[in-house]
Amino acid sequence: MPEYIVLLGPPGAGKGTQAERLADQLGLVHVSSGDIFRENLKNETDLGKLAQGYMNRGELVPDDVTIAMIHERLSREDCEAGALLDGFPRTPAQAEALDEIVADLGGKVIAVPYIAVPQEVLVKRLSGRRTCPKCGRVYHIEYNPPRQEGICDDDSAELYQREDDKPETVRKRIQVYMEQTAPLISYYRDRQLLVEVDGTQPIEDITAQLIAVIKEKKSGVVS
Ligand code: ADP
Ligand code: ADP
Repeated sequence: MPEYIVLLGPPGAGKGTQAERLADQLGLVHVSSGDIFRENLKNETDLGKLAQGYMNRGELVPDDVTIAMIHERLSREDCEAGALLDGFPRTPAQAEALDEIVADLGGKVIAVPYIAVPQEVLVKRLSGRRTCPKCGRVYHIEYNPPRQEGICDDDSAELYQREDDKPETVRKRIQVYMEQTAPLISYYRDRQLLVEVDGTQPIEDITAQLIAVIKEKKSGVVS
Protein backbone atom coordinates (compact mmCIF):
# COMPACT_ATOMS: atom_id res chain seq x y z
CA MET A 1 0.00 0.00 0.00
CA PRO A 2 1.40 3.43 -0.93
CA GLU A 3 2.41 5.48 2.12
CA TYR A 4 2.53 9.27 2.09
CA ILE A 5 4.34 11.64 4.43
CA VAL A 6 3.41 15.33 4.48
CA LEU A 7 5.99 17.87 5.65
CA LEU A 8 4.19 20.80 7.18
CA GLY A 9 5.64 24.14 8.25
CA PRO A 10 5.86 27.81 7.33
CA PRO A 11 7.92 29.09 4.38
CA GLY A 12 11.55 28.88 5.46
CA ALA A 13 10.98 26.14 8.05
CA GLY A 14 13.36 23.81 6.23
CA LYS A 15 10.88 21.54 4.45
CA GLY A 16 12.82 21.46 1.18
CA THR A 17 16.16 21.02 2.94
CA GLN A 18 14.86 18.12 5.01
CA ALA A 19 12.88 16.53 2.18
CA GLU A 20 16.00 16.34 0.05
CA ARG A 21 17.99 14.71 2.86
CA LEU A 22 15.18 12.27 3.72
CA ALA A 23 14.75 11.33 0.07
CA ASP A 24 18.49 10.57 -0.10
CA GLN A 25 18.71 8.69 3.15
CA LEU A 26 15.43 6.76 3.08
CA GLY A 27 14.91 6.41 -0.67
CA LEU A 28 11.61 8.31 -0.63
CA VAL A 29 10.30 10.15 -3.68
CA HIS A 30 10.31 13.90 -2.97
CA VAL A 31 7.31 15.73 -4.41
CA SER A 32 7.58 19.51 -3.99
CA SER A 33 4.73 21.62 -5.37
CA GLY A 34 6.97 24.71 -5.40
CA ASP A 35 9.65 22.87 -7.41
CA ILE A 36 7.07 21.64 -9.92
CA PHE A 37 5.73 25.19 -10.36
CA ARG A 38 9.29 26.58 -10.78
CA GLU A 39 10.10 23.88 -13.34
CA ASN A 40 6.97 24.89 -15.30
CA LEU A 41 7.95 28.55 -15.03
CA LYS A 42 11.41 27.79 -16.41
CA ASN A 43 9.95 25.81 -19.32
CA GLU A 44 7.31 28.49 -19.95
CA THR A 45 4.44 25.99 -19.96
CA ASP A 46 0.80 27.12 -19.67
CA LEU A 47 0.82 26.01 -16.05
CA GLY A 48 3.99 28.04 -15.44
CA LYS A 49 2.47 31.14 -17.02
CA LEU A 50 -0.65 30.76 -14.92
CA ALA A 51 1.32 30.25 -11.68
CA GLN A 52 3.88 33.01 -12.18
CA GLY A 53 1.77 36.00 -11.11
CA TYR A 54 0.55 34.31 -7.95
CA MET A 55 4.05 33.16 -7.03
CA ASN A 56 5.67 36.54 -7.57
CA ARG A 57 3.01 38.20 -5.42
CA GLY A 58 3.54 35.61 -2.68
CA GLU A 59 -0.02 34.31 -3.07
CA LEU A 60 -1.17 30.74 -3.49
CA VAL A 61 -1.88 29.29 -6.91
CA PRO A 62 -5.61 28.40 -7.06
CA ASP A 63 -6.58 25.09 -5.46
CA ASP A 64 -8.10 23.43 -8.55
CA VAL A 65 -4.92 23.90 -10.59
CA THR A 66 -2.62 22.81 -7.75
CA ILE A 67 -4.70 19.77 -6.83
CA ALA A 68 -4.85 18.56 -10.45
CA MET A 69 -1.08 18.97 -10.75
CA ILE A 70 -0.37 16.93 -7.61
CA HIS A 71 -2.93 14.27 -8.54
CA GLU A 72 -1.15 13.79 -11.83
CA ARG A 73 2.28 13.68 -10.15
CA LEU A 74 1.27 11.14 -7.49
CA SER A 75 -0.31 8.91 -10.13
CA ARG A 76 3.02 8.38 -11.88
CA GLU A 77 4.85 5.10 -11.63
CA ASP A 78 7.73 6.38 -9.51
CA CYS A 79 5.22 7.18 -6.72
CA GLU A 80 3.86 3.63 -6.64
CA ALA A 81 5.16 3.12 -3.09
CA GLY A 82 4.09 6.61 -1.99
CA ALA A 83 5.86 9.94 -1.63
CA LEU A 84 7.22 12.61 0.66
CA LEU A 85 5.14 15.73 0.08
CA ASP A 86 6.71 19.16 0.58
CA GLY A 87 4.60 22.30 0.12
CA PHE A 88 1.32 20.44 -0.49
CA PRO A 89 -1.30 20.60 0.97
CA ARG A 90 -1.38 24.29 1.85
CA THR A 91 -5.12 24.90 2.32
CA PRO A 92 -7.91 22.90 3.98
CA ALA A 93 -9.40 22.21 0.52
CA GLN A 94 -6.07 20.78 -0.62
CA ALA A 95 -5.84 18.61 2.50
CA GLU A 96 -9.29 17.18 1.81
CA ALA A 97 -8.37 16.63 -1.84
CA LEU A 98 -5.19 14.82 -0.77
CA ASP A 99 -7.25 12.45 1.38
CA GLU A 100 -9.33 11.63 -1.69
CA ILE A 101 -6.30 11.24 -3.95
CA VAL A 102 -4.50 8.85 -1.61
CA ALA A 103 -7.69 6.84 -1.07
CA ASP A 104 -8.10 6.68 -4.84
CA LEU A 105 -4.53 5.35 -5.15
CA GLY A 106 -5.20 2.79 -2.42
CA GLY A 107 -2.84 4.35 0.10
CA LYS A 108 -2.79 6.54 3.20
CA VAL A 109 -1.04 9.45 4.87
CA ILE A 110 1.04 7.87 7.65
CA ALA A 111 2.66 10.90 9.30
CA VAL A 112 2.67 14.69 9.16
CA PRO A 113 5.85 16.08 10.70
CA TYR A 114 5.31 19.76 11.51
CA ILE A 115 8.57 21.71 11.48
CA ALA A 116 7.95 24.58 13.91
CA VAL A 117 10.00 27.78 13.57
CA PRO A 118 9.18 31.23 15.04
CA GLN A 119 8.31 34.01 12.59
CA GLU A 120 11.33 36.22 13.25
CA VAL A 121 13.67 33.34 12.30
CA LEU A 122 11.80 32.74 9.03
CA VAL A 123 12.54 36.18 7.61
CA LYS A 124 16.29 35.73 8.15
CA ARG A 125 16.21 32.28 6.63
CA LEU A 126 14.28 33.27 3.52
CA SER A 127 16.23 36.43 2.82
CA GLY A 128 19.53 34.51 2.99
CA ARG A 129 18.26 31.55 0.95
CA ARG A 130 20.00 30.88 -2.35
CA THR A 131 18.78 28.29 -4.83
CA CYS A 132 20.40 26.30 -7.62
CA PRO A 133 18.63 27.05 -10.92
CA LYS A 134 19.62 23.64 -12.25
CA CYS A 135 18.85 21.10 -9.51
CA GLY A 136 16.75 23.20 -7.09
CA ARG A 137 19.04 22.51 -4.10
CA VAL A 138 18.80 25.22 -1.44
CA TYR A 139 21.55 26.87 0.56
CA HIS A 140 21.79 29.72 3.04
CA ILE A 141 24.52 32.34 2.78
CA GLU A 142 25.21 32.06 6.52
CA TYR A 143 23.61 28.87 7.93
CA ASN A 144 24.21 26.43 5.11
CA PRO A 145 26.67 27.88 2.61
CA PRO A 146 27.97 26.02 -0.44
CA ARG A 147 31.64 25.00 -0.46
CA GLN A 148 32.39 27.78 -2.93
CA GLU A 149 30.48 31.05 -2.50
CA GLY A 150 27.56 31.39 -4.92
CA ILE A 151 28.15 28.02 -6.62
CA CYS A 152 26.13 24.79 -6.25
CA ASP A 153 28.16 21.91 -4.73
CA ASP A 154 26.43 19.36 -6.94
CA ASP A 155 26.50 20.82 -10.43
CA SER A 156 28.59 24.05 -10.26
CA ALA A 157 25.65 26.21 -11.44
CA GLU A 158 25.53 29.80 -10.18
CA LEU A 159 23.06 30.17 -7.31
CA TYR A 160 20.30 32.78 -7.49
CA GLN A 161 17.88 34.49 -5.11
CA ARG A 162 14.26 33.59 -5.78
CA GLU A 163 12.08 36.55 -6.77
CA ASP A 164 9.68 35.66 -3.94
CA ASP A 165 12.49 35.62 -1.34
CA LYS A 166 12.75 39.44 -1.47
CA PRO A 167 11.62 41.06 1.86
CA GLU A 168 8.15 42.41 0.86
CA THR A 169 7.10 39.11 -0.69
CA VAL A 170 8.48 37.15 2.26
CA ARG A 171 6.20 39.06 4.64
CA LYS A 172 3.22 38.42 2.38
CA ARG A 173 4.00 34.69 2.18
CA ILE A 174 4.21 34.37 5.95
CA GLN A 175 0.84 36.14 6.24
CA VAL A 176 -0.68 33.79 3.64
CA TYR A 177 0.72 30.84 5.59
CA MET A 178 -0.84 32.06 8.84
CA GLU A 179 -4.24 32.54 7.21
CA GLN A 180 -4.49 29.57 4.86
CA THR A 181 -1.99 26.88 5.86
CA ALA A 182 -1.70 27.08 9.66
CA PRO A 183 -5.25 25.59 10.04
CA LEU A 184 -3.80 22.32 8.72
CA ILE A 185 -1.93 21.88 12.01
CA SER A 186 -5.21 21.14 13.78
CA TYR A 187 -6.56 19.25 10.72
CA TYR A 188 -3.76 16.69 11.08
CA ARG A 189 -3.60 16.83 14.87
CA ASP A 190 -7.28 15.83 14.96
CA ARG A 191 -6.39 12.83 12.79
CA GLN A 192 -3.52 11.84 15.14
CA LEU A 193 -0.98 12.29 12.35
CA LEU A 194 0.84 15.42 13.51
CA VAL A 195 4.31 15.15 15.03
CA GLU A 196 5.86 18.46 16.00
CA VAL A 197 9.62 18.90 15.54
CA ASP A 198 11.64 21.91 16.73
CA GLY A 199 12.88 23.47 13.49
CA THR A 200 15.38 25.81 15.13
CA GLN A 201 17.85 22.96 15.75
CA PRO A 202 20.80 22.21 13.46
CA ILE A 203 19.82 20.68 10.10
CA GLU A 204 21.37 17.26 10.89
CA ASP A 205 19.57 16.95 14.25
CA ILE A 206 16.21 17.66 12.63
CA THR A 207 16.90 15.04 9.96
CA ALA A 208 17.72 12.46 12.64
CA GLN A 209 14.43 13.16 14.44
CA LEU A 210 12.42 13.01 11.23
CA ILE A 211 14.01 9.70 10.28
CA ALA A 212 13.07 8.27 13.67
CA VAL A 213 9.46 9.46 13.26
CA ILE A 214 9.16 8.05 9.75
CA LYS A 215 10.73 4.70 10.64
CA GLU A 216 8.29 4.31 13.48
CA LYS A 217 5.25 4.95 11.27
CA LYS A 218 6.35 3.28 8.09
CA SER A 219 5.85 -0.38 7.44
CA GLY A 220 8.68 -2.18 5.75
CA VAL A 221 11.53 0.14 6.77
CA VAL A 222 13.83 -1.80 9.07
CA SER A 223 15.83 0.28 11.55
P1 ADP B 1 11.12 25.62 3.12
O1 ADP B 1 11.21 24.59 2.04
O2 ADP B 1 10.37 25.15 4.33
O3 ADP B 1 10.64 26.94 2.63
P2 ADP B 1 14.05 25.60 3.01
O4 ADP B 1 14.42 24.17 3.19
O5 ADP B 1 14.15 26.17 1.66
O6 ADP B 1 12.61 25.88 3.67
O7 ADP B 1 14.96 26.45 4.04
C1 ADP B 1 14.88 27.88 4.09
C2 ADP B 1 16.28 28.45 4.33
O8 ADP B 1 16.72 28.14 5.66
C3 ADP B 1 17.36 27.90 3.39
O9 ADP B 1 18.24 28.94 3.08
C4 ADP B 1 18.03 26.80 4.21
O10 ADP B 1 19.40 26.62 3.84
C5 ADP B 1 17.92 27.35 5.63
N1 ADP B 1 17.73 26.31 6.66
C6 ADP B 1 16.99 25.17 6.55
N2 ADP B 1 17.00 24.49 7.72
C7 ADP B 1 17.76 25.20 8.59
C8 ADP B 1 18.14 25.01 9.97
N3 ADP B 1 17.74 23.95 10.67
N4 ADP B 1 18.91 25.96 10.53
C9 ADP B 1 19.31 27.05 9.82
N5 ADP B 1 18.98 27.29 8.53
C10 ADP B 1 18.22 26.37 7.91
P1 ADP C 1 8.34 27.94 0.39
O1 ADP C 1 8.58 26.55 0.83
O2 ADP C 1 9.52 28.81 0.50
O3 ADP C 1 7.10 28.55 0.96
P2 ADP C 1 7.50 26.87 -2.19
O4 ADP C 1 8.64 26.63 -3.07
O5 ADP C 1 6.88 25.72 -1.49
O6 ADP C 1 7.99 27.97 -1.14
O7 ADP C 1 6.34 27.64 -2.95
C1 ADP C 1 6.60 28.79 -3.73
C2 ADP C 1 5.28 29.34 -4.26
O8 ADP C 1 4.66 28.37 -5.13
C3 ADP C 1 4.23 29.66 -3.21
O9 ADP C 1 4.40 30.94 -2.62
C4 ADP C 1 2.95 29.58 -4.07
O10 ADP C 1 2.78 30.73 -4.88
C5 ADP C 1 3.25 28.39 -4.98
N1 ADP C 1 2.82 27.13 -4.35
C6 ADP C 1 3.61 26.10 -3.94
N2 ADP C 1 2.89 25.12 -3.40
C7 ADP C 1 1.59 25.52 -3.46
C8 ADP C 1 0.34 24.95 -3.04
N3 ADP C 1 0.29 23.75 -2.45
N4 ADP C 1 -0.78 25.66 -3.28
C9 ADP C 1 -0.76 26.86 -3.88
N5 ADP C 1 0.37 27.46 -4.27
C10 ADP C 1 1.54 26.79 -4.07
